[in-house]
Amino acid sequence: MNYEFADVRFNSGNGALLCNNCSIIIDYGFDHEDKVHYCKKCAVDKPIDYVIEDKGFGTYVLYSIVDTDFGGPAKNFVAKGPKDYVEYLQSKLVLDELARQAQELSLE
Ligand SMILES: [Zn+2]
Repeated sequence: MNYEFADVRFNSGNGALLCNNCSIIIDYGFDHEDKVHYCKKCAVDKPIDYVIEDKGFGTYVLYSIVDTDFGGPAKNFVAKGPKDYVEYLQSKLVLDELARQAQELSLE
């Protein structure tokens, strides 16, 4: 099978799926969804949004939404706890991300 987006390579006879960003092996075999794949590190580096879900019993879970380009948004677990806590984390992460993007722009 030929892949347009997924980075699948021969690895001494066994297939390997590589992170599209940093090229570390994230899975083995030749059978992978043809989309851009990121390793956990790269995926969490590129959040485009954060969402909070009410899990009931006063527990809230914060997820980062990651742009997987061709595969659509993927949800990654960030933290779990009372509403105040996850809302605080959410606002902090949004601000951190904005600061990081501003820094990237100023470096160009
Ligand atoms: Zn990576």
